[in-house]
Amino acid sequence: MSDHKLLRRAFGTFATGITVVTVGGANPHGMTANSFASVSLDPPLVLVCVDHHATMHDRLLDEGLFGISVLGADQQHVARHFADRWRPQGLAEFDPVDWRPGEITGAPLIGGAVAQFECALWRSYDGGDHTIVLGNLLSLDRCAEQDALLFFQGRFRQLNEETR
Ligand SMILES: Cc1cc2nc3c(=O)[nH]c(=O)nc-3n(C[C@H](O)[C@H](O)[C@H](O)COP(=O)(O)OP(=O)(O)OC[C@H]3O[C@@H](n4cnc5c(N)ncnc54)[C@H](O)[C@@H]3O)c2cc1C
Repeated sequence: MSDHKLLRRAFGTFATGITVVTVGGANPHGMTANSFASVSLDPPLVLVCVDHHATMHDRLLDEGLFGISVLGADQQHVARHFADRWRPQGLAEFDPVDWRPGEITGAPLIGGAVAQFECALWRSYDGGDHTIVLGNLLSLDRCAEQDALLFFQGRFRQLNEETR
């Protein structure tokens, strides 16, 4: 097994939720990310790690404002869409989903998400082949009480009764 496969398998034992990170502006864009984490309560900070090669990388750093939508259990198709490198670009990228522009940042926020955040870039740090992006929360919306979509061992998952 290659080192990368081994790493992916080992990292995949840590269960996460799934988010879509978005930027607005003239050329809106979204990207599926499971590296999201809460960082600080005061000031309220979150982080997401973005691959240097991802289109989102420079877009997010240039724009300085971004949205994060935490996907609900029934939004696996949304996660797949924003991870598909062949998806349309620009506004057409958002055609298959329900969304609204964030009131402060204009970044698209995904409808049906369990939580939506708007952020301003706080700091960014070298994270190897990714950049660690810290965002200062500008707004938050705990939208729905439904379960979140999970990612574990390389597969999308849903909570079941045994894990509640
Ligand atoms: C569950 C899950 C969680 C994820 N979490 C993260 C995360 O936390 N952080 C993260 O950075 N990514 C993450 N990804 C991957 C990310 O969602 C996808 O790579 C997504 O396509 C990136 O979107 P983008 O538009 O920013 O980059 P894209 O433009 O889609 O590029 C993605 C990759 O494809 C390459 N590429 C693009 N077009 C071509 C082409 N024509 N030919 C060859 N190569 C090409 C790019 O160089 C880049 O390496 C995750 C994916 C999944 C499924």
